[in-house]
Amino acid sequence: MRFILTEFLRPFMPAPEYRTYMCLICGFIYDEAAGLPDEGLAPGTRWEDVPPNWTCPECGARKEDFEIMAI
Ligand SMILES: [Zn+2]
Repeated sequence: MRFILTEFLRPFMPAPEYRTYMCLICGFIYDEAAGLPDEGLAPGTRWEDVPPNWTCPECGARKEDFEIMAI
């Protein structure tokens, strides 16, 4: 059901819709559009494509410690 709805709405959704995630420990921001070239993450790298063992470059927190930011 959800899949069908997403497919139906796709033409109406702005693309690409990049998101930002914030580290709850130190406030570091990961922006999908910008990526983290210094960390080997190319601009446009989706959060789900960030390696699961990736850690916050500022404080070493894990992906679970990041929360999506509402724009
Ligand atoms: Zn952090």
